[in-house]
Order: sequence, then structure tokens, then C-alpha cells
Amino acid sequence: MAGKVKKDGRDKKRNVREPKTDGREPKTDGREPKTDVREPKTDVREPKTDVREPKTDGREAKTDGRKPKTDGLVKVTFLGSGNAFAPGRDWSGILLNDRILLDCGPTVLPNLRAVDVDPGSIRGVFLSHLHADHTFGLPFMFLDSYFLTDRSEPLTIVGPAGSRKFLNKLDKMAYPDIDGERKKRLPLNFIELDDQTTFGFGKVQAEAIPMAHGDQAAFGYRVKIGKKTIAYSGDTGMCRGLKDLVWDADAVILEMSSPKFISKNHLCRQDIETIAGWCFEGTKIILTHLSEVPSDMKGYVFARDLKTLWV
Ligand SMILES: [Zn+2]
Repeated sequence: MAGKVKKDGRDKKRNVREPKTDGREPKTDGREPKTDVREPKTDVREPKTDVREPKTDGREAKTDGRKPKTDGLVKVTFLGSGNAFAPGRDWSGILLNDRILLDCGPTVLPNLRAVDVDPGSIRGVFLSHLHADHTFGLPFMFLDSYFLTDRSEPLTIVGPAGSRKFLNKLDKMAYPDIDGERKKRLPLNFIELDDQTTFGFGKVQAEAIPMAHGDQAAFGYRVKIGKKTIAYSGDTGMCRGLKDLVWDADAVILEMSSPKFISKNHLCRQDIETIAGWCFEGTKIILTHLSEVPSDMKGYVFARDLKTLWV
């Protein structure tokens, strides 16, 4: 089961490095402006390291040779793997084969550029729910299409009922001065979900399954690409739909907002271990929407920003 999946040990290294940077800050009370000047340089350096990572990741995924053997596999790139409080991680966004985006947090557009994916290659955005850390990247994606990216095909947005109204309002609030003519550069389709729904998207078959996230209408997605099924929980607490979501998927991407905090609206470590018991043997279980990575939690893959896995 999950025990077969190799845990990515590099998360630990990153976590070790980060506190050192943080540790420096309190010692510089009198010299604050200098510290502030230095910080952006660190930030600029980080993406370069991350951009190199997908090559390593490609090798991890069953590829012994120099070139990853990716035929029939699905490319899964994490653009953001943090929870709403962004604890050293960016906000939610998961890219499948550079064409489908699962959620669109505020940091998605800069991170698409960091992994060298043209925003115009994205054909579908599947929203798990309408909280800001999953949707507020869309005004920037729209802006990119209004001015930079030529779209020959429409962008399809799938989300809970009311998604169209919500996003129109958000777009108007974000950039009220962009005229209607320019907005015609971005043809949009909407699929609004009321209940469990299956829908086709090009050659992709997808199913949306209701999750439990407080008052929010929330959905998990099963996305079938070729022979592979990727399941994504979005934000949810424990619910019946999770069983239907994960049972035979090749990869299961689950939120774990906090390992210890038990909540009706989010998953904790104990919940993840229960759900792992519902998965087929060999299923890759990837945890995202993270606050921290427990060092003793073995058998799971922990998502990292700008990191690609092949499933
Ligand atoms: Zn949420």
C-alpha cells in the first residue's frame, strides 16, 4: 500500500535550511533595513534551485536511464503545496500534463513561469471550492490572456455552482479598467457542479465528487488521462465521498492542512492513515495543502512547490 511509495527525503533538507534564515532575523533589531534588503536576494535564488528539480524528479519515477520514460504517464507539477497560511509554501495549484490546472491560488501565474509552462497551454481549470487560496490566481491568469497569451481554444473553468458569478466579480474587482473588447481575447467556458458529476474534457474523462468543507460547496476530482486516474481531494474533512474518490486511483493527492489538528473541514494525519487503508496497493499517496512535514510519517510523498512527479 502506501508503504511501497518512497518518501521524498528532500523535504527534510529544505525544512532544515529554512529555520536558519529565519533565525538570522531576530538578531538584527537595530539593522532591520539591511536585513530587508538582503531577503529579496534569497527569494530570487530559490526559484533557480527549484527549476532544476523536475529533472531529478523525472528520474525518481521509474526511470533508470538519463531520459525519463514518460510514455503513458501523467506529468503532475505542484505549483503550490501550502495551506491558506502559506507556511514557507505557495498556495494551491496542481498542473496535469501542462493542460489541466487543479485549483488556482494567487501564486500560480508566477510559478507557471518558474517551471517554464506557457499559461496559454492550460485548457481547463478545475476548482475544488471558491476559497481565496484556491481561486485568487485566476484574475492574473485572465490578465495574462487579455494582454499576452493568444488563446485559440477557450479556457474551461469547472467549479461549484456560482463559480461564473464569483469569478466575474473577482475579475471586475481586480482590474475594473480593462474594457470588454480586450476581454474578448479570452473565451471562457464554465461547467458548474451541483452534485456528483462526470464530464468529458477533450480526451480526458473527469468526475467531481462532493467533499465536506464547512459551508463551502467543495468537490474532489477523479481525472482519467489515458490509463491513469489521478484523484484530488481539494480541501475536505473526513467524508463518505473520499472513499469513492480514492479507491482505484493510480495517484491520490490529499490535503493535510495540519498533521495534528483534528477538524471537520480538513484532514489530519490520522485521517490520512485511514484513507490510505481505502486505497489499492501501489497507489501513490501525495500530500499537499501542508503546514509541516512530520519526519516520522513514512510511505507518503510530500508535495513541494515547483516539483514534478510522473504518475
Ligand atoms: Zn478551503
